[in-house]
Amino acid sequence: MFVLKGIDQLEKAIIKAKKIRTTVKFIEFGVYSVKGTQGNFYTVECKKVGNEKQVICNCKAGQSGKPLVCYHSVAALSLHVGLCRQRKAA
Ligand SMILES: [Zn+2]
Repeated sequence: MFVLKGIDQLEKAIIKAKKIRTTVKFIEFGVYSVKGTQGNFYTVECKKVGNEKQVICNCKAGQSGKPLVCYHSVAALSLHVGLCRQRKAA
């Protein structure tokens, strides 16, 4: 799990996510399923807790307790951000 503070913390993971071009499935608003390199799927949750934007991924890196930004999180976030914009516009 990590707290989203700015785009620069995501840069490395964005590059990786673009390279891998993974599949992101929409489960519900804020919950996404992202395909891993082994063909397995990870669940990524994007939620707002108070003033913090938390991103939780259930992959090994995401569960390590370190504020790691995995590419699953980034892939899910890019979809989530798009959906947030649509919601605000609606
Ligand atoms: Zn992950």
